[in-house]
Amino acid sequence: MVAKPLSTEAALDVRLSTLAGCWLELRCPRHQGIVLYPLDLLRRQHGDRPLRAILARFRCQRCGGPPSPVYLCETPQRVPGHGAPPGWSVELRAPVIPRPT
Ligand SMILES: [Zn+2]
Repeated sequence: MVAKPLSTEAALDVRLSTLAGCWLELRCPRHQGIVLYPLDLLRRQHGDRPLRAILARFRCQRCGGPPSPVYLCETPQRVPGHGAPPGWSVELRAPVIPRPT
C-alpha cells in the first residue's frame, strides 16, 4: 500500500521505488488516447529516479508531443468503471488545450 503524495510537487520528487505498484496515466491532447504505464516497468527501464526525471522524457509515440494531462494513480483505473474501485490519483501535469493545426 503506497501513501498518496500530498501534492503534485511532492509526487514529482518521489522515487519510483517508493511508488512500486503505482501507475502513470498519460493522455495525448491531440489523440485523446490514454496510455497506462506501470511504474515498476519504468524503474527497470530508467532506474530508480524521481518521477520528475521520468516525466520529462515522456513523449507521445504517435506525434512526439508532450502528454497532458498526466496522473499518478494507485491503480490502473482513475475513474469508477468496471472491476475494482479506483484508488487515489494525483494530477502531475494539468490538461492543456491543443492548438488547432
Ligand atoms: Zn500524440
